[in-house]
Amino acid sequence: MVIDLHAHTAFSDGTQSPSELVSEASMEGIDVVGITDHDTTAGWAPAEEAARVYGLGLVRGMEISCRHEGISVHLLSYLHDPYDTGLASVVEETRRSRLDRTHLIIDRLAEDYPIDMDAVLAVAGEDATIGRPHIADALVAAGLVETRSEAFASILSSHGKYHVTLPTIDPITAIRLIAEAGGVSVFAHPRAAMRGLVVSDSAMADFIAAGLDGLEVDHRDNPPNEREIMRRLAHDHDLIVTGSSDYHGTGKPNRLGEHSTSEHMLAKLLDRAAGRPGGVEFIQG
Ligand code: AMP
Ligand code: ZN
Ligand code: FE
Ligand code: FE
Repeated sequence: MVIDLHAHTAFSDGTQSPSELVSEASMEGIDVVGITDHDTTAGWAPAEEAARVYGLGLVRGMEISCRHEGISVHLLSYLHDPYDTGLASVVEETRRSRLDRTHLIIDRLAEDYPIDMDAVLAVAGEDATIGRPHIADALVAAGLVETRSEAFASILSSHGKYHVTLPTIDPITAIRLIAEAGGVSVFAHPRAAMRGLVVSDSAMADFIAAGLDGLEVDHRDNPPNEREIMRRLAHDHDLIVTGSSDYHGTGKPNRLGEHSTSEHMLAKLLDRAAGRPGGVEFIQG
């Protein structure tokens, strides 16, 4: 069984529709895929339909943008109730903040580059959660950089003069809201130091005390020695361990199934979700 629980579609910063993602996963020999767009569940319905057509297992999820003591933290929420008002309202607020923040970044960029909001919206999917990847794509379309990665390494760097941080919720609040919505929380790429600062061990302990359910240990952005530290931490606290690709279509080099989750850990995740009222089911395909 190949289980890949973290992938993006054009409802955030991936490049495929949910049905294209599910179809490709099926062709690539993936058995269970997780759809985890940033701050939205808009892709769930088409993904479910496609999973039934292709006979693929589907875990419906979302990657929530959080910030803890100034450090960006991504929390994966799996199988929560998308209509739960607690979680849905904070995510809606984050989506609004993302638009405001994109306007601010564009204002700064426009002083030096020929780019505006329309150019960004033109490269984003309808209803998509807007983020820096779309600004990157607009810079590529304008011929100012070659690739998304080049844009992140230069103009859009979080250390650069055009950067604006995204105001959003603390993961400790998000962990509670996910559980109250019947979902399961997994800390995405917890040691992705190449993206920016990572949280301290004591912050990690606070997340675990707040009810964090799992750690995304096997992810290309976690250095190999850190993965073993995370695996031990997960073992010591009876957390779920996942491994995933964080696939973004052609938006990133990550390949579907490049890291995967064990059947045992998927069962543990489904078990935790089943113990919480209100969430959605695993789709068997
Ligand atoms: P934002 O949430 O708007 O600040 O944008 C961050 C998102 O951009 C992350 O979720 C990544 O998926 C994506 N990203 C970060 N670094 C890169 C990169 N080097 N190339 C392509 N996408 C990236
Ligand atoms: Zn992304
Ligand atoms: Fe992420
Ligand atoms: Fe992601």
